[in-house]
Amino acid sequence: MSNSLTSGALYASRLARVRQEMQRRSIDAALLSVGHDLPYLTGYYAMPLERLTMLVVTQDSVATLIVPRLEAPRVTPFDDVFRVVPWGETENPVEIVAKHLGGAKCIAVGDQMWARFLVELMGFVSGACFVRAVDVVGPLRMVKDAAEIAALQAAGAAADRVAVQLQAGNIPLVGRTEAQVSADISARLIAEGHDVVNFAIVAAGENAASPHHHAGPRVINKDEIVLCDFGGTMNGYCSDITRCVFVGTPSRKITSAYSVLHASHAAGVKAGVVGATCESVDAAARKVIDDAGFGDFFIHRTGHGIGMEAHEDPYMVSGNKLPIAAGHAFSVEPGIYLPGKWGMRLEDIVVATDAGPIAMTNVDHSLVVIN
Ligand code: ZN
Ligand code: ZN
Ligand code: ZN
Repeated sequence: MSNSLTSGALYASRLARVRQEMQRRSIDAALLSVGHDLPYLTGYYAMPLERLTMLVVTQDSVATLIVPRLEAPRVTPFDDVFRVVPWGETENPVEIVAKHLGGAKCIAVGDQMWARFLVELMGFVSGACFVRAVDVVGPLRMVKDAAEIAALQAAGAAADRVAVQLQAGNIPLVGRTEAQVSADISARLIAEGHDVVNFAIVAAGENAASPHHHAGPRVINKDEIVLCDFGGTMNGYCSDITRCVFVGTPSRKITSAYSVLHASHAAGVKAGVVGATCESVDAAARKVIDDAGFGDFFIHRTGHGIGMEAHEDPYMVSGNKLPIAAGHAFSVEPGIYLPGKWGMRLEDIVVATDAGPIAMTNVDHSLVVIN
Protein backbone atom coordinates (compact mmCIF):
# COMPACT_ATOMS: atom_id res chain seq x y z
CA MET A 1 0.00 0.00 0.00
CA SER A 2 1.32 3.42 -0.85
CA ASN A 3 2.68 5.45 2.02
CA SER A 4 0.46 8.39 1.31
CA LEU A 5 -2.57 6.24 2.15
CA THR A 6 -1.35 5.35 5.62
CA SER A 7 0.56 8.25 7.13
CA GLY A 8 -0.28 9.98 10.37
CA ALA A 9 -0.02 13.34 8.60
CA LEU A 10 -2.77 12.27 6.22
CA TYR A 11 -5.10 11.32 9.09
CA ALA A 12 -4.25 14.54 10.94
CA SER A 13 -5.18 16.63 7.91
CA ARG A 14 -8.44 14.71 7.38
CA LEU A 15 -9.37 15.18 11.04
CA ALA A 16 -8.53 18.88 10.83
CA ARG A 17 -10.98 19.19 7.95
CA VAL A 18 -13.63 17.28 9.91
CA ARG A 19 -13.18 19.71 12.82
CA GLN A 20 -13.56 22.68 10.46
CA GLU A 21 -16.79 21.23 9.12
CA MET A 22 -18.00 20.51 12.68
CA GLN A 23 -17.31 24.10 13.66
CA ARG A 24 -19.13 25.40 10.60
CA ARG A 25 -22.17 23.29 11.51
CA SER A 26 -21.98 23.92 15.29
CA ILE A 27 -21.35 20.25 16.00
CA ASP A 28 -19.45 19.76 19.28
CA ALA A 29 -18.46 16.11 18.93
CA ALA A 30 -18.42 13.39 16.29
CA LEU A 31 -18.62 9.71 17.26
CA LEU A 32 -17.42 7.15 14.74
CA SER A 33 -17.73 3.46 15.39
CA VAL A 34 -17.84 0.51 12.97
CA GLY A 35 -18.01 1.50 9.30
CA HIS A 36 -15.52 3.21 7.02
CA ASP A 37 -15.33 6.73 8.46
CA LEU A 38 -13.14 5.36 11.27
CA PRO A 39 -10.42 3.84 9.04
CA TYR A 40 -10.64 6.87 6.74
CA LEU A 41 -9.73 9.10 9.69
CA THR A 42 -7.39 6.82 11.67
CA GLY A 43 -6.31 3.87 9.53
CA TYR A 44 -8.00 1.53 12.03
CA TYR A 45 -10.67 -0.94 10.90
CA ALA A 46 -12.91 -1.89 13.83
CA MET A 47 -14.30 -5.40 13.73
CA PRO A 48 -18.11 -5.27 13.70
CA LEU A 49 -18.26 -6.67 17.23
CA GLU A 50 -20.84 -6.33 19.98
CA ARG A 51 -18.03 -4.67 21.95
CA LEU A 52 -17.85 -0.91 21.51
CA THR A 53 -15.18 0.82 19.45
CA MET A 54 -15.54 4.60 19.20
CA LEU A 55 -13.50 7.49 17.91
CA VAL A 56 -14.44 10.68 19.76
CA VAL A 57 -13.62 13.81 17.77
CA THR A 58 -14.01 17.21 19.43
CA GLN A 59 -12.19 20.49 18.83
CA ASP A 60 -9.27 19.08 20.90
CA SER A 61 -6.29 18.60 18.60
CA VAL A 62 -5.93 14.91 19.49
CA ALA A 63 -8.95 12.61 19.09
CA THR A 64 -9.72 9.67 21.40
CA LEU A 65 -10.06 6.10 20.16
CA ILE A 66 -11.92 3.98 22.70
CA VAL A 67 -11.35 0.30 21.94
CA PRO A 68 -11.93 -3.04 23.69
CA ARG A 69 -8.68 -3.96 25.48
CA LEU A 70 -8.33 -7.17 23.47
CA GLU A 71 -8.49 -5.20 20.21
CA ALA A 72 -5.91 -2.58 21.24
CA PRO A 73 -2.93 -4.58 19.85
CA ARG A 74 -4.43 -4.23 16.36
CA VAL A 75 -4.36 -0.42 16.51
CA THR A 76 -1.47 1.31 14.73
CA PRO A 77 -0.94 4.36 16.93
CA PHE A 78 -0.42 7.87 15.56
CA ASP A 79 0.25 9.80 18.76
CA ASP A 80 -0.37 13.27 17.33
CA VAL A 81 -3.63 12.13 15.77
CA PHE A 82 -5.46 10.12 18.44
CA ARG A 83 -4.85 8.64 21.88
CA VAL A 84 -5.95 5.07 22.52
CA VAL A 85 -8.19 4.39 25.52
CA PRO A 86 -8.68 0.64 26.01
CA TRP A 87 -11.62 -0.55 28.11
CA GLY A 88 -11.80 -3.77 30.12
CA GLU A 89 -14.55 -6.37 30.05
CA THR A 90 -16.19 -5.18 33.28
CA GLU A 91 -16.24 -1.47 32.43
CA ASN A 92 -19.13 0.37 30.78
CA PRO A 93 -17.64 1.70 27.51
CA VAL A 94 -20.63 4.00 26.85
CA GLU A 95 -19.92 5.78 30.13
CA ILE A 96 -16.30 6.20 29.00
CA VAL A 97 -17.49 7.72 25.72
CA ALA A 98 -19.79 10.09 27.63
CA LYS A 99 -16.86 11.24 29.81
CA HIS A 100 -14.89 12.20 26.71
CA LEU A 101 -17.67 14.29 25.23
CA GLY A 102 -16.77 17.35 27.31
CA GLY A 103 -20.37 18.49 27.70
CA ALA A 104 -21.09 18.38 23.96
CA LYS A 105 -24.57 19.58 23.11
CA CYS A 106 -24.69 18.66 19.43
CA ILE A 107 -23.27 15.21 18.63
CA ALA A 108 -22.74 13.69 15.19
CA VAL A 109 -22.90 9.88 15.03
CA GLY A 110 -21.77 7.52 12.28
CA ASP A 111 -24.49 5.74 10.29
CA GLN A 112 -23.17 2.31 11.23
CA MET A 113 -22.95 2.79 15.00
CA TRP A 114 -25.03 0.07 16.66
CA ALA A 115 -28.37 1.50 17.76
CA ARG A 116 -27.87 0.02 21.26
CA PHE A 117 -24.84 2.26 21.89
CA LEU A 118 -26.69 5.37 20.76
CA VAL A 119 -29.70 4.47 22.91
CA GLU A 120 -27.47 3.87 25.96
CA LEU A 121 -25.52 7.07 25.30
CA MET A 122 -28.73 9.12 25.26
CA GLY A 123 -29.13 8.15 28.91
CA PHE A 124 -25.79 9.81 29.75
CA VAL A 125 -26.17 13.06 27.80
CA SER A 126 -29.65 14.35 28.43
CA GLY A 127 -30.66 17.28 26.25
CA ALA A 128 -28.01 16.72 23.58
CA CYS A 129 -29.08 16.72 19.94
CA PHE A 130 -27.89 14.06 17.53
CA VAL A 131 -27.12 14.44 13.83
CA ARG A 132 -25.57 12.17 11.22
CA ALA A 133 -21.77 12.24 10.94
CA VAL A 134 -22.09 11.71 7.21
CA ASP A 135 -22.69 15.47 6.97
CA VAL A 136 -19.16 16.18 8.20
CA VAL A 137 -17.19 13.18 6.91
CA GLY A 138 -19.13 12.39 3.71
CA PRO A 139 -18.08 15.47 1.70
CA LEU A 140 -14.42 14.66 2.45
CA ARG A 141 -14.71 10.99 1.61
CA MET A 142 -16.46 11.72 -1.68
CA VAL A 143 -13.50 13.65 -3.10
CA LYS A 144 -10.73 11.14 -3.70
CA ASP A 145 -7.12 12.30 -3.58
CA ALA A 146 -4.45 11.09 -6.02
CA ALA A 147 -3.47 8.07 -3.91
CA GLU A 148 -7.10 7.01 -3.55
CA ILE A 149 -7.69 7.35 -7.30
CA ALA A 150 -4.56 5.25 -7.92
CA ALA A 151 -5.97 2.60 -5.56
CA LEU A 152 -9.34 2.64 -7.37
CA GLN A 153 -7.48 2.35 -10.67
CA ALA A 154 -5.45 -0.65 -9.46
CA ALA A 155 -8.59 -2.41 -8.18
CA GLY A 156 -10.43 -1.59 -11.42
CA ALA A 157 -7.56 -2.94 -13.52
CA ALA A 158 -7.64 -6.20 -11.55
CA ALA A 159 -11.40 -6.55 -12.12
CA ASP A 160 -10.87 -5.69 -15.78
CA ARG A 161 -8.43 -8.60 -16.14
CA VAL A 162 -11.11 -10.99 -14.88
CA ALA A 163 -13.63 -9.50 -17.33
CA VAL A 164 -11.11 -10.07 -20.14
CA GLN A 165 -10.98 -13.75 -19.14
CA LEU A 166 -14.79 -13.87 -19.17
CA GLN A 167 -15.06 -12.30 -22.62
CA ALA A 168 -12.27 -14.52 -24.00
CA GLY A 169 -14.28 -17.59 -23.05
CA ASN A 170 -11.67 -18.69 -20.48
CA ILE A 171 -14.33 -18.98 -17.79
CA PRO A 172 -16.50 -21.97 -18.78
CA LEU A 173 -20.22 -21.15 -18.64
CA VAL A 174 -22.50 -23.65 -20.41
CA GLY A 175 -23.27 -26.69 -18.28
CA ARG A 176 -22.05 -25.08 -15.05
CA THR A 177 -24.26 -23.56 -12.38
CA GLU A 178 -24.35 -19.85 -11.72
CA ALA A 179 -22.86 -20.60 -8.29
CA GLN A 180 -19.91 -22.45 -9.83
CA VAL A 181 -19.19 -19.58 -12.21
CA SER A 182 -19.53 -17.10 -9.33
CA ALA A 183 -16.96 -19.07 -7.31
CA ASP A 184 -14.67 -19.16 -10.35
CA ILE A 185 -14.91 -15.39 -10.85
CA SER A 186 -14.31 -14.84 -7.11
CA ALA A 187 -11.12 -16.95 -7.21
CA ARG A 188 -9.90 -14.99 -10.22
CA LEU A 189 -10.57 -11.64 -8.47
CA ILE A 190 -8.31 -12.82 -5.64
CA ALA A 191 -5.71 -14.20 -8.08
CA GLU A 192 -5.60 -10.78 -9.77
CA GLY A 193 -4.80 -9.03 -6.51
CA HIS A 194 -8.00 -8.32 -4.58
CA ASP A 195 -7.83 -8.87 -0.82
CA VAL A 196 -11.51 -9.78 -0.55
CA VAL A 197 -14.40 -10.38 -2.94
CA ASN A 198 -17.42 -8.22 -2.17
CA PHE A 199 -19.84 -9.88 -4.61
CA ALA A 200 -19.89 -11.94 -7.79
CA ILE A 201 -23.37 -11.90 -9.27
CA VAL A 202 -23.86 -14.43 -12.07
CA ALA A 203 -27.37 -14.44 -13.51
CA ALA A 204 -28.40 -16.49 -16.53
CA GLY A 205 -31.36 -15.93 -18.82
CA GLU A 206 -34.51 -14.94 -16.92
CA ASN A 207 -32.52 -14.68 -13.67
CA ALA A 208 -30.70 -11.67 -15.13
CA ALA A 209 -33.98 -9.76 -14.86
CA SER A 210 -33.37 -9.56 -11.09
CA PRO A 211 -30.61 -6.93 -10.71
CA HIS A 212 -29.14 -8.38 -7.48
CA HIS A 213 -29.85 -12.04 -8.29
CA HIS A 214 -28.07 -14.43 -5.94
CA ALA A 215 -26.03 -16.91 -8.00
CA GLY A 216 -27.62 -20.30 -7.41
CA PRO A 217 -28.05 -23.86 -8.70
CA ARG A 218 -29.46 -22.77 -12.08
CA VAL A 219 -27.41 -24.39 -14.87
CA ILE A 220 -26.32 -22.05 -17.66
CA ASN A 221 -27.52 -23.10 -21.11
CA LYS A 222 -26.51 -22.23 -24.62
CA ASP A 223 -28.34 -19.31 -26.28
CA GLU A 224 -28.91 -17.21 -23.20
CA ILE A 225 -27.50 -14.05 -21.79
CA VAL A 226 -25.22 -14.30 -18.75
CA LEU A 227 -24.93 -11.16 -16.62
CA CYS A 228 -21.81 -10.97 -14.43
CA ASP A 229 -21.42 -8.14 -11.89
CA PHE A 230 -18.41 -8.49 -9.63
CA GLY A 231 -15.94 -6.61 -7.51
CA GLY A 232 -13.76 -6.71 -4.45
CA THR A 233 -11.51 -4.64 -2.25
CA MET A 234 -7.81 -4.18 -2.96
CA ASN A 235 -5.57 -2.15 -0.65
CA GLY A 236 -8.68 -0.69 0.96
CA TYR A 237 -10.46 0.45 -2.23
CA CYS A 238 -13.22 -1.23 -4.23
CA SER A 239 -13.75 -2.41 -7.78
CA ASP A 240 -17.15 -2.97 -9.42
CA ILE A 241 -17.85 -3.97 -13.02
CA THR A 242 -20.73 -5.53 -14.97
CA ARG A 243 -20.46 -7.24 -18.32
CA CYS A 244 -22.94 -9.49 -20.13
CA VAL A 245 -21.85 -12.27 -22.45
CA PHE A 246 -23.82 -14.56 -24.71
CA VAL A 247 -23.02 -18.18 -25.52
CA GLY A 248 -24.55 -18.96 -28.89
CA THR A 249 -26.46 -16.59 -31.12
CA PRO A 250 -28.36 -13.69 -29.54
CA SER A 251 -31.80 -12.87 -30.93
CA ARG A 252 -32.39 -9.62 -32.80
CA LYS A 253 -34.43 -8.40 -29.79
CA ILE A 254 -31.48 -8.91 -27.47
CA THR A 255 -28.87 -7.33 -29.74
CA SER A 256 -31.04 -4.30 -30.38
CA ALA A 257 -31.85 -3.88 -26.68
CA TYR A 258 -28.14 -4.20 -25.92
CA SER A 259 -27.28 -1.43 -28.36
CA VAL A 260 -29.74 0.80 -26.47
CA LEU A 261 -28.06 -0.17 -23.19
CA HIS A 262 -24.62 0.59 -24.62
CA ALA A 263 -25.74 4.00 -25.84
CA SER A 264 -27.34 4.70 -22.45
CA HIS A 265 -24.11 3.82 -20.66
CA ALA A 266 -22.06 6.04 -22.98
CA ALA A 267 -24.49 8.93 -22.44
CA GLY A 268 -24.26 8.50 -18.66
CA VAL A 269 -20.46 8.51 -18.68
CA LYS A 270 -20.35 11.53 -20.99
CA ALA A 271 -22.68 13.44 -18.64
CA GLY A 272 -20.45 12.77 -15.61
CA VAL A 273 -18.47 16.00 -15.88
CA VAL A 274 -17.34 18.35 -13.14
CA GLY A 275 -20.10 20.84 -12.33
CA ALA A 276 -22.98 18.74 -13.68
CA THR A 277 -25.43 17.46 -11.08
CA CYS A 278 -25.46 13.81 -10.03
CA GLU A 279 -29.06 13.55 -11.19
CA SER A 280 -28.08 14.70 -14.68
CA VAL A 281 -25.98 11.52 -15.11
CA ASP A 282 -29.07 9.48 -14.29
CA ALA A 283 -31.22 11.61 -16.61
CA ALA A 284 -28.79 11.26 -19.53
CA ALA A 285 -28.56 7.47 -19.23
CA ARG A 286 -32.31 7.10 -18.61
CA LYS A 287 -33.34 9.24 -21.57
CA VAL A 288 -31.73 6.82 -24.05
CA ILE A 289 -33.57 3.86 -22.51
CA ASP A 290 -36.86 5.79 -22.23
CA ASP A 291 -36.67 6.94 -25.85
CA ALA A 292 -36.23 3.32 -26.99
CA GLY A 293 -39.38 2.31 -25.10
CA PHE A 294 -37.65 0.35 -22.32
CA GLY A 295 -38.16 3.00 -19.62
CA ASP A 296 -40.39 0.79 -17.45
CA PHE A 297 -37.67 -1.86 -17.39
CA PHE A 298 -34.84 0.32 -16.02
CA ILE A 299 -35.79 -0.13 -12.39
CA HIS A 300 -32.89 1.36 -10.41
CA ARG A 301 -30.78 4.50 -10.16
CA THR A 302 -27.93 4.85 -12.66
CA GLY A 303 -25.06 4.72 -10.20
CA HIS A 304 -23.48 4.92 -6.79
CA GLY A 305 -20.32 6.40 -5.37
CA ILE A 306 -17.46 4.03 -4.58
CA GLY A 307 -14.26 4.18 -2.58
CA MET A 308 -13.50 2.35 0.65
CA GLU A 309 -17.10 1.12 0.41
CA ALA A 310 -18.61 -0.57 -2.62
CA HIS A 311 -21.64 1.76 -2.33
CA GLU A 312 -21.21 5.23 -0.83
CA ASP A 313 -22.04 8.86 -1.66
CA PRO A 314 -22.61 10.35 -4.17
CA TYR A 315 -25.57 8.54 -5.73
CA MET A 316 -26.48 9.14 -9.38
CA VAL A 317 -30.21 9.36 -8.87
CA SER A 318 -33.03 11.70 -9.75
CA GLY A 319 -33.33 14.31 -6.99
CA ASN A 320 -29.61 14.42 -6.16
CA LYS A 321 -28.67 17.96 -7.12
CA LEU A 322 -25.13 17.69 -5.75
CA PRO A 323 -22.68 19.03 -8.35
CA ILE A 324 -20.04 16.53 -9.42
CA ALA A 325 -16.56 17.58 -8.24
CA ALA A 326 -13.14 16.53 -9.46
CA GLY A 327 -12.28 13.38 -7.51
CA HIS A 328 -15.83 12.04 -7.24
CA ALA A 329 -15.79 8.31 -8.09
CA PHE A 330 -19.04 6.62 -9.10
CA SER A 331 -20.56 3.86 -11.18
CA VAL A 332 -22.54 4.31 -14.37
CA GLU A 333 -24.65 1.16 -14.65
CA PRO A 334 -27.89 1.39 -16.56
CA GLY A 335 -29.86 -1.83 -16.99
CA ILE A 336 -32.86 -3.23 -18.84
CA TYR A 337 -34.78 -6.03 -17.09
CA LEU A 338 -37.62 -7.95 -18.72
CA PRO A 339 -39.24 -10.08 -15.98
CA GLY A 340 -39.31 -13.78 -16.82
CA LYS A 341 -37.23 -13.26 -19.97
CA TRP A 342 -33.81 -11.68 -19.62
CA GLY A 343 -31.90 -8.76 -18.19
CA MET A 344 -28.81 -6.80 -19.05
CA ARG A 345 -26.62 -4.19 -17.37
CA LEU A 346 -23.38 -2.45 -18.33
CA GLU A 347 -21.22 -0.93 -15.61
CA ASP A 348 -17.96 0.91 -15.24
CA ILE A 349 -16.58 3.01 -12.41
CA VAL A 350 -15.55 6.50 -13.48
CA VAL A 351 -13.68 9.27 -11.69
CA ALA A 352 -14.59 12.84 -12.56
CA THR A 353 -11.60 15.04 -13.37
CA ASP A 354 -11.22 18.55 -14.79
CA ALA A 355 -10.26 16.84 -18.06
CA GLY A 356 -13.47 14.76 -18.09
CA PRO A 357 -14.47 11.37 -16.66
CA ILE A 358 -11.78 8.65 -16.49
CA ALA A 359 -12.96 5.03 -16.47
CA MET A 360 -11.44 2.63 -13.94
CA THR A 361 -12.57 -0.34 -16.06
CA ASN A 362 -12.21 -0.38 -19.83
CA VAL A 363 -12.79 -3.91 -21.13
CA ASP A 364 -14.98 -4.30 -24.26
CA HIS A 365 -18.45 -2.80 -23.80
CA SER A 366 -20.21 -4.92 -26.40
CA LEU A 367 -22.31 -8.02 -25.78
CA VAL A 368 -19.43 -10.41 -26.42
CA VAL A 369 -20.55 -13.63 -28.05
CA ILE A 370 -18.64 -16.69 -26.84
CA ASN A 371 -18.53 -19.86 -28.91
ZN1 ZN B 1 -22.20 -0.94 -8.96
ZN1 ZN C 1 -21.75 -3.82 -9.95
ZN1 ZN D 1 -18.92 1.79 -24.71
